Amino acid sequence: MSQKFNAASLARENVKTMTPYMSARRLGGNGDVWLNANEYPIAPDYQFSERNLNRYPECQPVAVINNYATYAGITPEQVLVCRGADESIELLIRAFCEPSKDAVMFCPPTYGMYSVSAETFGVEQKKIMALPDWSLNVASIRENLTNTKLIYICSPNNPTGNIIDNKDLLEVLEMAAGRALVVVDEAYIEFCPQYSVANWLAKYPNLVILRTLSKAFALAGLRCGFTLASPEVIEVLLKVIAPYPLSTPVAMIAAQALDAQGIATMKSRVATVTENRIALSEALRGLSVVEKIYPSETNYILVRFTDGNKVFKALWDQGIILRDQSKQPGLENCLRITIGTEIENVRVIEAIEALC
Ligand SMILES: *Cc1c(COP(=O)(O)O)cnc(C)c1O
Repeated sequence: MSQKFNAASLARENVKTMTPYMSARRLGGNGDVWLNANEYPIAPDYQFSERNLNRYPECQPVAVINNYATYAGITPEQVLVCRGADESIELLIRAFCEPSKDAVMFCPPTYGMYSVSAETFGVEQKKIMALPDWSLNVASIRENLTNTKLIYICSPNNPTGNIIDNKDLLEVLEMAAGRALVVVDEAYIEFCPQYSVANWLAKYPNLVILRTLSKAFALAGLRCGFTLASPEVIEVLLKVIAPYPLSTPVAMIAAQALDAQGIATMKSRVATVTENRIALSEALRGLSVVEKIYPSETNYILVRFTDGNKVFKALWDQGIILRDQSKQPGLENCLRITIGTEIENVRVIEAIEALC
């Protein structure tokens, strides 16, 4: 006798109805030029010699924590390491938000995981649309603070590429004091370090900063990210984190990426990417199918085309995979292009020129 088993019907109500985050990898594609996930285009080299994999790793590997604290100019007590910035986004919700009672706030168009994580935990989402110049709608943020525990602010913002104004950030930090954490997602800050607000941590106990090794450090496959905050916030997060969030190989490679030589290599990568970003933007400027190139301080550019879908499909068919952003509010006909190698950039430029 066969028993009918329907796993979907057993899932929690909010999980039944949710759509998973469509990461670049899940979206698939059959390309040889991957410009859809803001990765670094060339694989870095690392030494791995540890043989003691019979032992559990440290929960917070001291070498990784100390190297990151030195790099960020803060104390080790202000640093938590985990499985990518995506896990930080989720840990904060798990630790600070009561399902069906508290809310998280974020400002579309922005990174998709704030919404997905909130939905997974049954936490209300307050979406405060950015203003037309992509700055924060500070007045609307103020009006919607009731029951908000976390305010995610992405700066530089993914996918628009702009920096959030310091004055606006300060205003939000002050209005949220004592009631909500302001989480500044600095996943791309290595491309514009002068805009980091890490030096505000000492003054604002409700400030949290997210960082990652996935972008400028060229280690998206490693899955390693950081939460920077007051020691009190870090203590709370340590209550809900997995007992061994990083495997031993991950910790070893992360520590190397963050030593003096690793930081120097990262900086030279940033210089190359920035040169290539400027070159790509210049080449696209003025092409008849290009409507607008948004200024970017990152390793990607957001471009509005006259017909975004046509450009996306034409490049897809040639194995050049970009990220379609046209479904996000305010981003009709917009594609996000990760800055690849010089050769990859030329492929993109030639493919788009051919459509003009
Ligand atoms: C890539 C990205 C992340 C995720 O980083 P991981 O460390 O790879 O999880 C977080 N926030 C933003 C804005 C990103 O673009």
